[in-house]
Amino acid sequence: MQNLVYFLYDKAYINITNACTNACKFCVRDIKDDVMGAGLWLEDKNVKAKDVIEQIDAAKDKIKSCGEIVFCGYGEPLIKFEEVKEICIYLRKNLPDVKIRINTNGHGSFVNKKNIVPVLKPLIDSISISLNAQDEATYNKISSPKIENAYQSMLDFAKECVKEGIDTTMSIVTKFKEDEYKIDPEKCEEIAKNLGAKFRIREWIKNGY
Ligand code: SF4
Repeated sequence: MQNLVYFLYDKAYINITNACTNACKFCVRDIKDDVMGAGLWLEDKNVKAKDVIEQIDAAKDKIKSCGEIVFCGYGEPLIKFEEVKEICIYLRKNLPDVKIRINTNGHGSFVNKKNIVPVLKPLIDSISISLNAQDEATYNKISSPKIENAYQSMLDFAKECVKEGIDTTMSIVTKFKEDEYKIDPEKCEEIAKNLGAKFRIREWIKNGY
């Protein structure tokens, strides 16, 4: 069975795809098949919402006790926007007290060729967007995006989330080859604050960031 729903440190997560529009240098998926023992590499790429919902049902009580479930796995969840939508609708209806968060690289609107934020707004409680760098050149170096205009698309997405009133956090990863990538936390924080988002620093750790 594929791990579509998994648990780490008493938190519940949904792992829906291995596909991503970035290839971040610090991404654990290129290093190993699991995060803290939870095998996340999906052999079957065509994950359906109903497959995830089945695993949610099987772990309902545990998810309820976590209080929150987060879309976060080895890929970019909003590449599977239709499935994410369906799962969120199911969660809202069947586990109304469980908060829903999406961890994303912010390319969802670009990939889906439309502004998906207004659709997400009633379906989630918060969103965490990987800012990753203080400027486009540094972003391209550390995240190796496979799409054009990736940095600006991510910033525009964050702006839309704030505009829609979604609890929005922008994050960076520090302590990863600092001499090579020169991430400037202060500038990054300023960018997040200017967009009206919260800011979070995650320290890179070997077993998952
Ligand atoms: S955006 Fe996330 S999943 Fe995609 S390569 Fe970067 S760290 Fe990995």
